[in-house]
Amino acid sequence: MTALHRSTDSTVLVGGPPSKLPTVHGLFTLRTYTHDGTSHAVMSIGDPAAVDAPLVRVHSECLTGDALGSHRCDCGDQLSASLAAIAHAGTGILIYLRGHEGRGIGLENKLRAYALQDAGLDTVAANRALNLPDDARDYTAAAAILHDLDCPQITLLSSNPSKVTALEGMSITVADRLSLQVPDRPESAGYLEAKRRLMNHIAPAEHPHVDTTEANTEDTASTVGTISTVVEEDTLAVYDTIAGGDEVVAQLAQSEDGFIATSNGDAQFVSGQIDRAHLHRVRASVGAVLVGCGTVVADDPQLTVRAVPGKNPVRVILDPHGRIPATATVLTSPEAPTLWLTGAEVVPPKDIGDHVRMVRLPATADSEISPATIISLIREHASGSILVEGGGRTVSSFLSAGVLDRLFLTSAPVLIGNGVPGIRFEGTEVMAEALRRPFRRYRFGEDMCTEYLLSKSASGGSTENADRSPGDASTA
Ligand SMILES: [Zn+2]
Repeated sequence: MTALHRSTDSTVLVGGPPSKLPTVHGLFTLRTYTHDGTSHAVMSIGDPAAVDAPLVRVHSECLTGDALGSHRCDCGDQLSASLAAIAHAGTGILIYLRGHEGRGIGLENKLRAYALQDAGLDTVAANRALNLPDDARDYTAAAAILHDLDCPQITLLSSNPSKVTALEGMSITVADRLSLQVPDRPESAGYLEAKRRLMNHIAPAEHPHVDTTEANTEDTASTVGTISTVVEEDTLAVYDTIAGGDEVVAQLAQSEDGFIATSNGDAQFVSGQIDRAHLHRVRASVGAVLVGCGTVVADDPQLTVRAVPGKNPVRVILDPHGRIPATATVLTSPEAPTLWLTGAEVVPPKDIGDHVRMVRLPATADSEISPATIISLIREHASGSILVEGGGRTVSSFLSAGVLDRLFLTSAPVLIGNGVPGIRFEGTEVMAEALRRPFRRYRFGEDMCTEYLLSKSASGGSTENADRSPGDASTA
């Protein structure tokens, strides 16, 4: 590549020498490109020019979000997720455009606009009240840099369609655009909603996501034991084990004090994006995913695989009394087959989708269907492993019945105080009888996931009493 390039507006682009930049996401090459008096930072990994349409993030400088940890915007999360995605792909470029602070209005004006937003204006109205443009960013330097790097065709990591338009106007072909899996935070939700409503930004759920799980290479552990071992450059082999077996696996994310949602059911979001990508990866490894009706009523989940590549499992809803609404996504969206486990007296809604199969639960004296019965019903309709995904009551009942091979229990560093409980079961009176099993630990960003190897097969036979259920010594 050349160090000197004449860009479209005849401003000279000067590239600096490459240097190594080790980061939490991996080893990047860093160089500057100076264009029109501004030095931009360009991070790359692999040989992007050798790839058809390498992953590219064109990131606008945001001091508050990128460096100061601000949650007013999602810039810091987007930056981190982009670098993780590029590192995971093994090839790609992040162009860090300086001078783009506050969509190009500068730091001082951005903070003036923040003050107006604190007084109630949205992000666009605040800029207009200051006689500032909605978006003053210029992407000439980014296009010139991509041409210089011999990458005229790219896969753009962005939720912002106007970046696509701007780059394509300067002879960069955007072969694909991927939204990053970055959750809205409570403090930035209003700002992001305004950008989506007023500036055509696209919400992440509507578009394919980029997996950032494996890029967090320091977060994978592989050794069973009482002390977790962190192994670098390792993906979780357990996904292959689950995909290749017929296990019953459970997953739950709860607060440090053991709740999966607040007292009014707000569960957005207890754990972070890496844990949710992990959940999607487990979903992609199983043949069926089970939730209780309470989860469907409270969260209306899709139960599909979105954060990672993979096939959707059969969705199984445990709903003995027909409590889920006819409008539930699992009943209305045909993205994946749905098994609706329900009582004999439940009348199905009219024009129920072809993807839904009603399976009648056996009538029982105490109306409690045993987890073992539910598992054998599911096995009649789906092969492979089964994921019991929630909520707290359903996972706890399967755990308590001793039918789980494996439990992923993620603990998020947040205290809810009171709310919808996570794992709860009839406990023991003495600590010596409490449930202890071999485990592995994974650090998922801020969250800590403990994988309990509950059955002998899951732990490779290394547990003496793996077939005993917790809190119930009579269940052999
Ligand atoms: Zn920002």
